Amino acid sequence: MSTAIVAAPKIRQTNMFIGGKWQESRGGKRFPTLNPVNETVIAEIAQGNEADVDAAVKAARAAFETGLWSKMDARDRGRLMNKLADLMEANLEELAALESLDNGKPIRDARAADLPLAIDCLRYYAGWADKLTGDVIPIRGNYFCYTRREPVGVVGQIIPWNFPILMAAWKWGPALASGCTIVMKPAEQTPLTCLRLAELAQEAGFPDGVINVVTGYGETGAAMVRHPGIDKIAFTGHYETAQKIMVDAAKTLKRLTFELGGKSPNIVFADADLDAAVAGAEFGLFFNQGQCCCAGSRLFVEQSIHDEFVSKVVDRAKSRQLGDSLDPNTTQGPQVDADQFNKILSYIDKGKAEGAKCLTGGSRFGNKGFFIEPTIFTEVNDEMSIARDEIFGPVMSILPFKNTDDIIARANNTYYGLAAAVWTRDVQKAHRVAASVRAGTIWVNCYDVFDAAAPFGGFKMSGSGRELGEAALANYTELKTVTMSLG
Ligand code: ADP
Repeated sequence: MSTAIVAAPKIRQTNMFIGGKWQESRGGKRFPTLNPVNETVIAEIAQGNEADVDAAVKAARAAFETGLWSKMDARDRGRLMNKLADLMEANLEELAALESLDNGKPIRDARAADLPLAIDCLRYYAGWADKLTGDVIPIRGNYFCYTRREPVGVVGQIIPWNFPILMAAWKWGPALASGCTIVMKPAEQTPLTCLRLAELAQEAGFPDGVINVVTGYGETGAAMVRHPGIDKIAFTGHYETAQKIMVDAAKTLKRLTFELGGKSPNIVFADADLDAAVAGAEFGLFFNQGQCCCAGSRLFVEQSIHDEFVSKVVDRAKSRQLGDSLDPNTTQGPQVDADQFNKILSYIDKGKAEGAKCLTGGSRFGNKGFFIEPTIFTEVNDEMSIARDEIFGPVMSILPFKNTDDIIARANNTYYGLAAAVWTRDVQKAHRVAASVRAGTIWVNCYDVFDAAAPFGGFKMSGSGRELGEAALANYTELKTVTMSLG
């Protein structure tokens, strides 16, 4: 792979993809998407309104009702999904550059993580398309009883800006394999790769109306949630947005699945492989500029190794390379937009004001773009806002702990429950923590290990339902029971 700065890719689509056609907004409005490296406008994107959402829902509904997709031979559905994955692979460099440009993530991460994981996800679910079986159930009496798994119908999928292409793949994969048709709204900060994916889906041969993309702000998403023609909403984002979605969806009793935020404990015991744990702490928090719902933002370190650990992790934070996201040497890009940038800086100020000690970072980096220095706080207590709230930025809080009982209670002292990690060589301790921390994913001696086959999702206010794996198919299927008299 070349180490030269990558040229910004051409922007091919700025309109919405509805019923197989590229369409302007019926309201005529557009909104800008910015390059967070230098705050310049990359493109003006069609701003979807209620009429656009309605058109997209009608297209998805028509494609669903005709059976064009749901009744297509399941092997052919799988084949089309694989074809889309092949096209993503063939256009990997362009997609990675587009993702990096729009989101600000380092091109090296887009190439090595976002794109391969997204491609893998579509391939994984392509394999499920012809494996959605039911059960034969031995009921009382002379009956033949069996279940069928049928697609939920038209699904509305609303995704965030932190992993745009990966979130699209996580949502499209199980929905398409199940035979659902889709209206997707990418985040307003990062619409570009989703539009390009829709173009590739068309090139792959997906029938018109199976995948539709509407672009816009939260109000466009809200119009989807209210629309009676959508059967289910799958949402990833902030829990406060999920609360609004629950209220808006109540009227039509839509099925809902949520993947929300976290304040994940990353627990390092004194008997751990220290260097591996330090590397895992850095990666678990600073990867993607800290903009991960499962970021290990509460780093608990056993008292006896605290000082040594802190000094090693500070060294690693200082060695991060901040710069242009399209430069392959960059390991940390800017935050996605001014709102996130300001929110993170205000948490850093709060941490200082509440008495935590800022050992490194703590400020803006440079004077253009939304860059924030990798920041580490010690002398943090569990009640400080930096230890309680999701910051979604490169801000690590290190908290010492005494023993296993103490740490399990503290790890669970949060309204979130998305992920956790434990670092130890003691198998018993590892299993005890894994069984006791109330979170959807527990990593042992590793962090942020994702695979399309392994379910991911939250306990408590981190969400409901699971993405990935066989589990995600349940989000997109209705179970039908058929009972037949045998005379
Ligand atoms: P974040 O705070 O990380 O930006 P949000 O929850 O605000 O997360 O946004 C995630 C996605 O939800 C985006 O696509 C956004 O446009 C959309 N969204 C925001 N508000 C609403 C809403 N009221 N109804 C539906 N979707 C919304």
